[in-house]
Amino acid sequence: MIDVDVLIAGGGIAGLVAAAAFVAEGRSVFLVDAGPGPERAATEDSDLRSTAILEPSIAFLTEIGLWPVFADGATDLATMRLLDAGGRENAVRTSAAFAAVDTGRPRFGVNVLNAPLRARLSAEVAQLPGVRVRFGCAVTGALARSNVNTVALDDGTRVHARLAIAADGRDSRLRKAAGIGVRRWGFGQKALVFAVSHPLPHNNISTEIHRTGGPFTLVPLPDRAGVPHSAVVWMERGPVAGRLHALDDAAFEEELNARSCGVLGPLRLAGKRAVWPIVNQLARRFDGPRLALVAEAAHVMPPIGAQGLNTSLGDLRALTALTRGAADPGAAGILSRYHRTRYAPVAARMAGVDLLNRAALAGPQPLRDLRNAGLRLLDATPLRRVAMQVGLGAPQGTVSGKP
Ligand SMILES: Cc1cc2nc3c(=O)[nH]c(=O)nc-3n(C[C@H](O)[C@H](O)[C@H](O)COP(=O)(O)OP(=O)(O)OC[C@H]3O[C@@H](n4cnc5c(N)ncnc54)[C@H](O)[C@@H]3O)c2cc1C
Repeated sequence: MIDVDVLIAGGGIAGLVAAAAFVAEGRSVFLVDAGPGPERAATEDSDLRSTAILEPSIAFLTEIGLWPVFADGATDLATMRLLDAGGRENAVRTSAAFAAVDTGRPRFGVNVLNAPLRARLSAEVAQLPGVRVRFGCAVTGALARSNVNTVALDDGTRVHARLAIAADGRDSRLRKAAGIGVRRWGFGQKALVFAVSHPLPHNNISTEIHRTGGPFTLVPLPDRAGVPHSAVVWMERGPVAGRLHALDDAAFEEELNARSCGVLGPLRLAGKRAVWPIVNQLARRFDGPRLALVAEAAHVMPPIGAQGLNTSLGDLRALTALTRGAADPGAAGILSRYHRTRYAPVAARMAGVDLLNRAALAGPQPLRDLRNAGLRLLDATPLRRVAMQVGLGAPQGTVSGKP
């Protein structure tokens, strides 16, 4: 039997950050993850994704002392560029660039490779005082009583926690154990994820190209051996993504270069390709008895506009703002306030991402032309400033069109 203030299920990036955030509050923390330790996962190259961390997340990470871990190997994102290539020919017909410097900031955020970041984070968290970390150990169930949540692990351990945090991903066992349902929808898309090298420098510009099937996004990575590199997230309808994934490297590169419209010169694959299913999923509540849902246990959204992990870090910022200094971090009042303050902004953010995804999916030519007209409008009017604030990760309710 183990007694702790906070049990965290899930040692993904969100769960590890949660551990550091609660330790920073002086809580005792026990973190369990069903998967292998991240060092093993990193060397097996299991997560080829990179994550854009936006400025509000950087502020939170700085507060809890984790920013140096994220900054190591990060690439600045100084400009976001949206291109429309939805005409009859596969070529760029409209381009809108949004530079952070126009809003008085040097960057929108940074881009970091997930696997090495998770390995660094787990090493950092493991040596924090008051935290215990156990990989290769799954949560199998939980039973909340008035003053404690008893969480069962698959190695037979029982953990008594005043607060349990579900950071155990989209199929969260803790969420299911609490009987919290989800709303799930999607358009049968998948994301092809890989890294590329290219002859032209990316100049710290993140580029999103719209044609059909979903966005094609190039996000800057550090140069390797003096050669520029970028991470690619290429969203397509499932069957198209399946066909592309089955191609050999040479045939895949041909399709890749057609889709990228040559914006960074000829792209060459740098490493393996992976495919991720794309869904939208929102839990019915973000709280339960002595339970808080965070990250993908609470919300899953398509990788558009770098909202996923940044929204997860927003969950942790909101939750720890409520628990800080409280005698009982799992008190029902705190948790219901967490749900009330967090649910509506996350649902609104998901609706925004959903709208962008639908626009990027557009197949029929008239719809693609409408999207192109929208991009021109965005570039030429005061809406441009609003878009930049959103790009900077401004929380809902703080975006203003005023200079
Ligand atoms: C292609 C792609 C690109 C993305 N790009 C970005 C981006 O640029 N910016 C951004 O902000 N977001 C991005 N996201 C979203 C971001 O990656 C996710 O929001 C984030 O990784 C989710 O973190 P998580 O910790 O909730 O889930 P996960 O990373 O899935 O972690 C869940 C953990 O829980 C563990 N677990 C599962 N079940 C149990 C159990 N029963 N007991 C114990 N442990 C368990 C798992 O082993 C896992 O380690 C992207 C997503 C995709 C698919």
